Amino acid sequence: MSNRTFTMIKPDAVKAGNIGNILQMIYAGGFRIVAMKYLQISKQQAEKFYEVHASRPFYGELTDFMSSGPIVAAILEKDNAVIDFRTLIGATNPAQAEEGTIRKKYATSISENAVHGSDSDENAAIEGNFFFNGLERF
Ligand code: ATP
Ligand code: MG
Repeated sequence: MSNRTFTMIKPDAVKAGNIGNILQMIYAGGFRIVAMKYLQISKQQAEKFYEVHASRPFYGELTDFMSSGPIVAAILEKDNAVIDFRTLIGATNPAQAEEGTIRKKYATSISENAVHGSDSDENAAIEGNFFFNGLERF
């Protein structure tokens, strides 16, 4: 078990004005912010980030969406960070997300689902390193 995970507030949630609401839920969930930035990624960068999904039918749609507008990327810290953050965000499909989760509140569909959360300690480290260097972590 590691104590860090990586998240993105996705373009749909940024456009809807939910950065503040989502950060509030992240703090209320007991997470500390280690690193954070507001930026827009290119289609190529989105393809690299989601490389594991390259063979999935939604890969084109996903990478178009993730490069369609600004996002907030962050590294978060808490005991059991990866699992606890997946619990806080809820199921990929908001229709199946538990009450009180970020996706239940702010996601609109399976493709535009407000937030990303790493699925393992290994991927949390890879994804954090994709966005942040050592001088950007506190
Ligand atoms: P994330 O990795 O963004 O935290 P997740 O781990 O819950 O989400 P994954 O299976 O890793 O879900 O899928 C990555 C992303 O791809 C999803 O968050 C969603 O935006 C998109 N996606 C997944 N399945 C579908 C689908 N069937 N149709 C459209 N988009 C999908
Ligand atoms: Mg995933």
